[in-house]
Parts: sequence; structure tokens; C-alpha cells
Amino acid sequence: MLWLVFTTGACNLRCDYCGGSFPNSVVPWRPRYGLEDLRRLIESDPDATVIFYGGEPLINARYIMRFMDSVRARRYGVQTNGLLHRLLPDEYWRRMDVALLSIDGREEVTDRHRGRGVYSKVLEAARRLRSLGVETIARMTVTQDSNIYEDVTHLLGLGLFDKIHWQLNVVWTKRWNLESWAERSYLPGLRRLMDLFMKSLREGIVLRIIPILGVISAAIFRPFEGVPCGAGYRSVAVSTDGRVLACPIAVRERWAVLGSVDKGFRLMGPRLAPECLRCPYRPYCGGRCLYAIMERDWGDEGFAAVDKVTRAYLDVVLSAVPEVKELIAKGVVRPEDLYYDPTKDSTEVIP
Ligand code: SF4
Ligand code: SF4
Repeated sequence: MLWLVFTTGACNLRCDYCGGSFPNSVVPWRPRYGLEDLRRLIESDPDATVIFYGGEPLINARYIMRFMDSVRARRYGVQTNGLLHRLLPDEYWRRMDVALLSIDGREEVTDRHRGRGVYSKVLEAARRLRSLGVETIARMTVTQDSNIYEDVTHLLGLGLFDKIHWQLNVVWTKRWNLESWAERSYLPGLRRLMDLFMKSLREGIVLRIIPILGVISAAIFRPFEGVPCGAGYRSVAVSTDGRVLACPIAVRERWAVLGSVDKGFRLMGPRLAPECLRCPYRPYCGGRCLYAIMERDWGDEGFAAVDKVTRAYLDVVLSAVPEVKELIAKGVVRPEDLYYDPTKDSTEVIP
């Protein structure tokens, strides 16, 4: 199972699609539960992946060290903006399996939303972490300023990231004209990206672009039972106040509280929106995002707009599946290279 462990609610940046720190009263800036209680919970899971989360988790690098010194897990990782990578010594980085580094693509796009100089600092972090054997994932937020083809290929070309993932800046921010941007820019860019993916695949090379790879994996190996991130059924978030939550974004929502570190918790199982129950895309989409299903911050009309884009993106990826299967049958690509489990990396697959 995936355990997203908040080390703090504080953040050192104020990216414009997020706004920065949680209030200390909502996600305390230091853990307030007994680490021994959490150790017992996590060590009872023989397949635990622990991903440090925040705020910016490296603000509390001391807690990461204490945690890694006392809690056994199969996999460790961190979702970070990378700026404070120096706070964690090499010996701890060497024990991390994966680091998800926030970067939006080209320098001007990243720095416009995250702050001047952020892009070059993230690259510096990626260089160091890779040299220490940590797998790096570029974690992009895609806005109307993004050009999905240009930004993803830019990151691939740097040779500093093992995988690329993105999420659309929808639902969390004010409603914007997603539909017209998707028609004009996003979907044509995705088609080009898919062509690039297939061109490489014909040469036996798998480009590890998670929104493509994850859907192909679901189509070939195992459909998603629920939201790909696993929220509430294969993944939990442990807040610094000791609450165990279904989703790390739902820090204020009662439906997300599954229990607590000291008293234990119960998983809620996969939960789907009524729209998803009768949707033919469900095996490859899984309902996309539990938080979006429950909160509908853009209303039903906004949910439908995001959904339309999701289905169009899925059509682009799924159209390649027959050829992918042929390439496997011909031995051009090994099936195991196309398998992807998002809960090992804490990614959402569906942007
Ligand atoms: S495409 Fe939309 S309706 Fe279908 S499963 Fe995904 S989120 Fe649900
Ligand atoms: S994809 Fe949605 S449900 Fe899953 S962790 Fe992210 S916000 Fe939560």
C-alpha cells in the first residue's frame, strides 16, 4: 500500500496554482502523533511504499531522517519542489527509491508559475539525486501556458528525469476555459506526443510518460478498480495531526477521514461517481480523482468539461493499444517494460 506521510504543512514556495503553506491549524507544521504508533501501522504492511509529503517535506528533513531510521518500508520516496535538497544528507537520499520533483517544463513556464530561478534549482536537485541513484520523476502542473508537446519533450531531452508525469490545473483553481485550450493546444499536442511514443516503441524504447504508460498498462495488464492514485483503497495520507486520510488534498473534508494513527483506520474501498459507473472508459480511467468526484469544485458542468477532455485524451492513448499488443507479440518490446503501478510512485496517471 502507499503511505503519503506529511512531514509538515509548511511550504517554502507560493506557486500560483497552489498558494503555499497549509494553515498550522489545518495541517500542523510539525507532526503531533507518536512515531511509534505509525511505525506499527506501516510495518504491518509488507508492501509499504512511504512517500514524504507536505507542504514541502524537506522543510522537516530531520523528521524524514528520524522516520527512515526507525520505520521499515519496502520503498521510500518524496514529493518535493527540490529547492531544499541539501537539507537531506547523501546517505538518506541513497536510501530513497524515487523523488517526484515539481517542474512544469521549459524554464519560462516553470518560473512564471513557481518563481524566478526555480527551474534551475530543480535541475540542480535532479542532477544530485540521480548521481545518488534516486529515480527522478518530473511532476508537471499543466496550465493554459503549457504546450504539452514542447514541455514534455523538453524535459525528456534534459536526460535528468526517468519518468514524466503531469496533472492539469483544473478544479483546484478558478474555472478557466479548459475546453477551448484543449481543442486548440492540448489535444493536438497529445497526439504528437503519442506519435513520438509509438515511434520510439517501434524501436523497442519505452518513453516513460506516465499518462501514456499508465493507461496502456491498464489496458494490457489490469484495469483500474478505482481512482489510479489508490485514494482510500490502496493509498492513505497521514497528516501531521495524526489523522489518516483517503486523499492528501482532502485535509478539510470529513468524508476523507479514515481514522487516526493512534486508534487505527479502515479503508473506504474504491468509490466512483455515478457518471463513472456507466462509463466505457472506466477500466482505463478509474474515475480519475476521488477529490474531484466528491467535491465538484467546478460544479457538474465543470466536471463534465474535464471529463470531455479526459475521454478525448484516453481515445488518443487507447487508439494505439492494438499496435502496442502487436509489438509485444513480435518481441519488439517486453511486456514487463509496459507495466506500471502508480501506487509505487504516488502518481495519478490520469492528468
Ligand atoms: S472518463 Fe469521466 S466518467 Fe469515465 S470513468 Fe473517467 S472520470 Fe468517470
Ligand atoms: S488524484 Fe485526486 S483523489 Fe487521488 S490523491 Fe490526487 S487529489 Fe486525491
